[in-house]
Amino acid sequence: MTLRAHPQPRQSGADLKENDMTDNVIKVSLTRTNYLTRWHCHVCGGRTEKDPVLAEGKQDLGPSGDGKGCNSRTVRVCPNCLEGADGVSLDQRLESFARWLEYEAQITRAMIGKLQVPSFKEWQDAEKAQEAAWAEDRASDIESHRACKADDGGSTLPF
Ligand SMILES: [Zn+2]
Repeated sequence: MTLRAHPQPRQSGADLKENDMTDNVIKVSLTRTNYLTRWHCHVCGGRTEKDPVLAEGKQDLGPSGDGKGCNSRTVRVCPNCLEGADGVSLDQRLESFARWLEYEAQITRAMIGKLQVPSFKEWQDAEKAQEAAWAEDRASDIESHRACKADDGGSTLPF
């Protein structure tokens, strides 16, 4: 599998979103997005910033279970991985991330049968109590601010 570290931007906007899938190559291209969020990087496990241009490709995962189609997934390479300023290659990053995922799977399985958690109702009640406490704190802060301003001559609140 080869990942191109520095895909060349396409000339036209129509071609910008096209990603090629061929055997043994995952072609990653620059893709515009108007959904600005921090996307998962499939190379290092990190995240993008809220970037309007992403580096994405399609990974072929072989025939689907029912044999009627083909499974694939979008893979994304974050700007840090593209830049490679630390000198670590994409393949080294993939291997490191894969090892981390294997460790995470191992320690996640180790929790099976061991978790003792609060009920959802307990969580909801604690959440409501915390929101009420914050509201009370805000009301108290506003009253304190008003009292201070009244002592200073009664200027208006800044909010
Ligand atoms: Zn990355």
